[in-house]
Parts: sequence; C-alpha cells; structure tokens
Amino acid sequence: MEITPGVHRITDINGSNAVLIVDEQMAVVDTGISGNGESIVSYIKSIGRDPRDLRWILVTHFHFDHSGSAQELHELTGAKIVSHRAETELTPEGKSLLIKGNEGAEGPPKIYSWLMGRRGNKRTQEIKYHDTEVHETVEEDDVIPCLGGIRIMHTPGHTPGSICPVLEGPRVLFLGDSVLNNINRLSRPLMWDRNRRRELDTSLRRLRELDSDVAMFGHGPPLTDDVNNKVRGLTDRPYDLPTWKIVLKNWRTLRKWRETTSKPGHWGAGPK
Ligand SMILES: [Zn+2]
Repeated sequence: MEITPGVHRITDINGSNAVLIVDEQMAVVDTGISGNGESIVSYIKSIGRDPRDLRWILVTHFHFDHSGSAQELHELTGAKIVSHRAETELTPEGKSLLIKGNEGAEGPPKIYSWLMGRRGNKRTQEIKYHDTEVHETVEEDDVIPCLGGIRIMHTPGHTPGSICPVLEGPRVLFLGDSVLNNINRLSRPLMWDRNRRRELDTSLRRLRELDSDVAMFGHGPPLTDDVNNKVRGLTDRPYDLPTWKIVLKNWRTLRKWRETTSKPGHWGAGPK
C-alpha cells in the first residue's frame, strides 16, 4: 500500500512493518520475522518492478521481528544488508554479523515478570534466528542515495545501534521501535534499565528538530497528521521515573502485551 509517493507499506508481512522505498534503485526498511522474503519480492513485482533493483535492506535495529528476513531477502535479490555498527558483532573470521536476539533478551526483573503474568516462553520456539551478514554499516548523517536521500540518525536507547532513517525528499521519518504508535497517542517502549531510558529520551529529543509529514513505525499504521506536534509532545512528558513506577502505571497494558506476544502464532500468523 502506497503511503506517500514512492513509500509503500508492504502487505502481508509477519512481525514488524516492512517499507519499500521506490526509486531507480530501491530500499527496504525492516523485513519482519523470518519467512517474509518471498512476500517482499512478490510485492516488488506487483508494482511492476524488478526485485533485482532492490539495492539496500536497511535494518532499524537487530531485533528478530525486524531483521528476521534480511538474509533471505538478500539471497533472493542481491541487495546489501545495512545496519549501524553497534548492532553487529565480528566473527573470528572477521565477518560482521547482526546480533541475534529479541525484545526480551535482557528479560524483566523477576518481580515484574510475576506482575505481568509469566506465560512460559512459547514464542521463542517459533522464532528462527539466522546468521545475517551485514554488508555495510552506517553512522549518524550518512545518506543513502534513494528517493531524494535517506539520512541516518543514530538514536540509541531501544538498542545501542537503533537508527531512525529520515527520507528528506518526501519527509518521512522512520521510528523503528524507538516510538510506539498507540491508538490515541505516541509512547516510548518499556525498558527496565533507567540509564537506557535516559539514553532513549536524549535520542528522541533530537527528533524535535525535524519537520516530517509522515511517521512510520516498527509496528502498526503510519501517522500522517500532526506528526511534529505529536513527536514533540512525547518528549515533553518525562520518562525519567523509577522502573517500578512505570510498571505500576502501565501494568494492565504490559500484562496484555505479554499475553498476546506469548501466544503461539503471534509472530507468524497472517496479516494483523
Ligand atoms: Zn525492537
């Protein structure tokens, strides 16, 4: 589905959103979990383009639900996998691989686990982790020459090497998982570590300077109205509370989230 000229939210993707940026040479931002490679390729064909014109597979951060199909998409199209260096680790042979892991890798402290309702770890059984070779790393202010330029902002917090790519032609901001699009307002992802929350807030405050027409999120629909005010409004609310206060304030939501994401099929079952 075309969100704004040249920017498509690819349909039928499991896990995160995958967004196609269409120019002479094309880019994809995130790929969802493993198994989406063919869907992305068919989408490219459905708009009358050749999958071999895909040049960049941009990964906003290493989490499996964003990077899971990067390797297969690379194999299907030849496109290069691109991420920030902090999302990679070097093998003894000197290959740069994407870190393997998920949102819960650090795990909540026990007391919060109990509060949120422990549901076992069913979901990890359906998740496939692949070796994903990163062919090119990007830093703050690098520009990928696609559709007027995709400028990279390094926005550590959710993960150390999270990036927010900014399309400078059509003024689209890609927020990855650094900001969540809830029904009535934007919010920040939960992090157990207070220092990381501060780090995320520092990153998000830099987004205040941007002027965007559209915001794309790692999950859920895009935001097309009042983007700048909503992004600024988010950083007006302090996030520097102790973890227990945040958990208590949000425990119903957290519990629900925990329940849905641990259901078998959640990550892999059809369109959401
Ligand atoms: Zn994430």
